[in-house]
Amino acid sequence: MLEETWTIRSRSSVNQFCELCGTESDFLTLDMALQVSGLSTRIILHGVEADEIHAVEAANGQLLICSTSLQNQAGPKPTS
Ligand SMILES: [Zn+2]
Repeated sequence: MLEETWTIRSRSSVNQFCELCGTESDFLTLDMALQVSGLSTRIILHGVEADEIHAVEAANGQLLICSTSLQNQAGPKPTS
């Protein structure tokens, strides 16, 4: 089961340069992003629209989420 998870993960994430981070980042499919962050689809898509979560569209039209920005979003929020 664990092996299967890792197979899916390695096939679902792409390491590429994120312009907004200014560094290389793992880009996850939306499904993977949901799994690793525990956030809802709505929150992630809202974050993408607000440029709080970085996303690129893959050649096949699939949305890929920058895991670095996702971690920032999923982390503890300032109380402001
Ligand atoms: Zn990024």
